[in-house]
Amino acid sequence: MTSQEVRTQFLNFFKEKNHTIVPSAPMVMRDDPTLMFTNAGMNQFKEFFLGNSVPKSKRVTDTQKCLRVSGKHNDLEEVGKDTYHHTMFEMLGNWSFGDYFKKEAIQWAWELLTEVYKIDKDILYVSVFEGSDDDKLEMDQEAYDLWKAIVPEDRIIMGNKKDNFWEMGDQGPCGPCSEIHVDLRSKEEKAKVPGASLVNQDDPLVVEIWNLVFIQYNRKANGSLEDLPEKHIDTGMGFERLCMALQGVKSNYDTDVFTPLIREVETITGKKYGKNEETDIAIRVVADHIRAVSFAIADGQLPSNTGAGYVIRRILRRAIRYGFTFLDTKQPFIYRLVKVLSESMGKAFPELPKNHQLIENVIKEEENSFLSTLEQGLVLLDSVIASSKSKTIAGEKAFELYDTFGFPIDLTSLILEEKGYQLDVEGFEKALKAQKDRSRAASEVSKDDWTVLQQDSEQEFVGYDTLEAKVKLVKYRKVTSKKEGDQYQLVFNLTPFYAEGGGQVGDKGYLEAPNGDVVYIVDTKKENNEIVHFAEELPKDVSETFKAVVDKEERFYTACNHTATHLLHQALREILGTHVEQKGSSVHAKHLRFDFSHFSKMTSEELSAVENFVNARIEGQLPFEEHRNIPINQAMEQGAMALFGEKYGDTVRTVRFGQSIELCGGTHVKNTADIWHFKIVSEGAVAAGIRRIEAITSEAAKEFFFKNNQMLFEIKGLLNTSQDPVKAVASLQEENNALKKQVEQLLKDKAKGLKNDLIAELEEINGIRFLAKKVDLDAGGIKDLAFEMGGQVTNLFLLLAAENEGKAVLSCYISKELASNKGLNAGNIVRELGKHIQGGGGGQPFFATAGGKNPDGIPAALANAKEIVLATT
Ligand code: ATP
Ligand code: MG
Repeated sequence: MTSQEVRTQFLNFFKEKNHTIVPSAPMVMRDDPTLMFTNAGMNQFKEFFLGNSVPKSKRVTDTQKCLRVSGKHNDLEEVGKDTYHHTMFEMLGNWSFGDYFKKEAIQWAWELLTEVYKIDKDILYVSVFEGSDDDKLEMDQEAYDLWKAIVPEDRIIMGNKKDNFWEMGDQGPCGPCSEIHVDLRSKEEKAKVPGASLVNQDDPLVVEIWNLVFIQYNRKANGSLEDLPEKHIDTGMGFERLCMALQGVKSNYDTDVFTPLIREVETITGKKYGKNEETDIAIRVVADHIRAVSFAIADGQLPSNTGAGYVIRRILRRAIRYGFTFLDTKQPFIYRLVKVLSESMGKAFPELPKNHQLIENVIKEEENSFLSTLEQGLVLLDSVIASSKSKTIAGEKAFELYDTFGFPIDLTSLILEEKGYQLDVEGFEKALKAQKDRSRAASEVSKDDWTVLQQDSEQEFVGYDTLEAKVKLVKYRKVTSKKEGDQYQLVFNLTPFYAEGGGQVGDKGYLEAPNGDVVYIVDTKKENNEIVHFAEELPKDVSETFKAVVDKEERFYTACNHTATHLLHQALREILGTHVEQKGSSVHAKHLRFDFSHFSKMTSEELSAVENFVNARIEGQLPFEEHRNIPINQAMEQGAMALFGEKYGDTVRTVRFGQSIELCGGTHVKNTADIWHFKIVSEGAVAAGIRRIEAITSEAAKEFFFKNNQMLFEIKGLLNTSQDPVKAVASLQEENNALKKQVEQLLKDKAKGLKNDLIAELEEINGIRFLAKKVDLDAGGIKDLAFEMGGQVTNLFLLLAAENEGKAVLSCYISKELASNKGLNAGNIVRELGKHIQGGGGGQPFFATAGGKNPDGIPAALANAKEIVLATT
């Protein structure tokens, strides 16, 4: 059975059981402060489990793109080393939101595996939660009894809290689970060791394929559990592992999900898979990581230096260095796998073929830059080795390489080993831990439990229509973080405050109690589909009805920028072409930022054309037309622009200004005329194939023009001419260049005259042609002069002094023959004479310079020089 068929059969099976098939949510989380990446199928349904919103359908099924490389679920270090953990994988799932529970979940899972997929019952094991003293929980008898009715009791294994109690994070919905494991070993192996003893023992052929989670508790901040009002089913089956079981192979990498990628790696690198363990690991790492990185980029997450982008960069770098070390790839090659990946998965995930070119470009650029970092690191490592007195290299040195160059520690120790050196691993780990502790301490956040004032209150956002509303507090909690200090999170029954999302910042404003007390709202964000307001203090009486007021000015300017962003998007597609796709935006009151795919720098003509296009629509006074809650299909038919990597519900809101129609939840102006004017302030590259425009509108644009005008006015004043200022500046520049040339020539002539004068002044003392004199030159001028005189006059002893900006300089020149015949040393002499000017210096026997802070000592130094010469014989 091909992997395509495996996926389709799963979805169809549950469709027949009245489940709605829904699309995978993006793998990269947006606007969720609690998670960077989707790490389980249930993430996109969190709000239903928490009871924050009501699902349209109580039974749902899908395949979800998951990434487990950070936080509670982090498999990164296993990937490649074993054959059944991936960074990015698909999780097939079926869900019940307060509908069916354990009985159906267990029966259907069994039916699907044994009757539809026809997996031999004898190779399956199931597990049941044994209970936990910490949580005062009994064993899951209900699940045990249900399983007992289907499978022999010796195939039911009792599992501990680690394996059989599923939790999304430190807080939130959770519950006991039953896992289903397959034993893929040979007959002989099975006869030797019973499969039951290998379940959950990290055997690569006895692996968990499906986890049925029975969500019935909520984990509170203090660690205790409370019953959820409703019980839910959340199941997750590893798609790649299921394919392994169904395709009769012994590794996920031998399924048709991975073989096309592995063949391509073999072709590119000339290495064969299955011959050598080290090479195999490297090939698996590359075949795995290309998926994670490509899907992330398709979801709009580019590699970068912070947050989710940094995680993606690290995954890609892990693949690059495995290639570099074990596959001898010194040139970019990973990007060449994108084509094969896109061909094999593009049907199920159209975002791959759609973004194919972009993904290739971004990966190639990352590869190039990291490969050159690796080379630089190698050079540095060589110098560390060269300067090391012992055969053990200090851990801090390796940490420095790791920290500033991203130079991986295993590579460092490998290279050291090859050269007969060792690494102080302990020292490295100490330095690493110290850094981790520092950053953890800085980002530590602790959240209290919510204090709930009103149960079951569905929240309403009224901020499209009004900026002021009477609100009641539904719940609140305190959040303590080292970075932000103490804050209170407040949730209201309704709110005019817009929560950060779709690139637009959250509203600020205040709450006013009936007695006039005011609490400021400093930010608004969405969490689990609730609008959470951040305040620095808690209102004194939380049971009051408050007047919630949004900062109108900020909101208006933000709206100007948001509407301008839509017009800009339209302009770019019109002027540059429809390959332009939004790759990120950030809309503030003061400015807007828009990232988009495009392969070259925009010319100044293109930039003006874009500005003109947008400004024409501002002048055209286009009215705001909005449709709330229309079915997504209808919106798409009207030509609305949807963005990859955004999560849209079944119903959406469309925002239209003239021909610009977008799916958008943001706030906008009533008429484009409100924007007044649109001005681009910068255009540049963010990554290969991604450009960024920063622009301003409204007041900020007025200020920009005002300042520029003011500057021009001042420039005209300075130029003091009735001429066009551009022409005036150009002619000033011309004049300036001519003057510069004249000055240079004059200085040359002056130096020549001075040289001749000084030669005429030379005195003959003891066979030495001597002169000590103060001149009006800088140190460089003195040096040039001394060497020119030295070239012309033999047996020369010259001491030239100068005073510049309150400081004294002495330079001594002694012809080489004098220096050796008479034992004179210019370095020693200036050091001696330097005392007169309260300074010091040095140099070579034939030329040396001293600087000092006492110009008044110059005459004494000159006299002293003569004494020295007089004293020679
Ligand atoms: P394991 O113990 O094997 O790491 P898990 O307990 O972390 O699995 P769950 O969180 O229950 O797994 O996820 C549900 C299913 O997703 C698992 O039964 C498995 O088939 C699959 N799965 C989990 N992690 C990975 C991974 N890193 N790569 C591929 N599949 C995975
Ligand atoms: Mg795991």
